[in-house]
Amino acid sequence: MITRFAPSLTGYLHLGHVLHMLYVWGVAKSGGGKVICRIEDHDLSRRRPEYETTILENMEWLGFVPDLGMSASGAAEASEFRQSDCGECYERMLGLLSEQGLVYGCECSRKQIQKERSGADGELCYSGTCSAKGLPLIGNTVRLRVPVGEVVFRDLRLGECRQHPKQQCGDFSLRDRTGQWTYQFACVCDDIRQGVDLVIRGEDILASTARQIQLFQMLGHSAPDYFHHPLICDDRGDKLSKRQRSESISQLRDAGISAEEILGRAAYAGGLASDSASLSLSAALILVADRLR
Ligand SMILES: [Zn+2]
Repeated sequence: MITRFAPSLTGYLHLGHVLHMLYVWGVAKSGGGKVICRIEDHDLSRRRPEYETTILENMEWLGFVPDLGMSASGAAEASEFRQSDCGECYERMLGLLSEQGLVYGCECSRKQIQKERSGADGELCYSGTCSAKGLPLIGNTVRLRVPVGEVVFRDLRLGECRQHPKQQCGDFSLRDRTGQWTYQFACVCDDIRQGVDLVIRGEDILASTARQIQLFQMLGHSAPDYFHHPLICDDRGDKLSKRQRSESISQLRDAGISAEEILGRAAYAGGLASDSASLSLSAALILVADRLR
């Protein structure tokens, strides 16, 4: 079993990430699996490379040591586990889809699509206006020809889920007109080449699971298993304020708060522990494993 922790470089780690890491390491370790760490900085216009070292360093300070991929010591070198170093791989994978006629260029602006219609959950849904225009991929948004129909999958925590990508988002984009890869595409390409067979994510992004599954299949691979975990909750005991939620691990560390205290807070705010008492990493991971029984 291989899963991954994949922070983006758009902000520092906060308590929500700590809860997420507890689930990633807790689920992986209870099943004898391995954890990959990769840096999701596919969007070159939003990435802040200076975040990388701090994120990796704080992870390891908390005790989360990946089995493979990025680590605080190897941060400077080019890596197949850093998306901004992997453009050629995404290009190759896009080529596979393109050869089969599964993608097309789209010249519509976001405003035009907004005017057209929105999907089932208020999400922007593209109706396929450009699908038969034969526009070049370079200089236009590259969209996937999303198959029509319902996708049924079994989430390891939530059970059977049913989603309709074509109705939710329509032909979603893999690359924007300026050449930036999208999260969905970069992430699926990475999971394929890195052999990820279990994806652990927050339940806030559950709705985008089926479109990833379709993308895996269109690239000729079976989809991984999915486990969607609950998020940091505001309403338990001591309310987690907006300030607390946005406080970074670096700030907590600088204020003299220990790794065990932070793990305790995350476990409590995520509903894993009944109070916010300090926890060793191994004790916190057992709380996750207990949830899986
Ligand atoms: Zn279009």
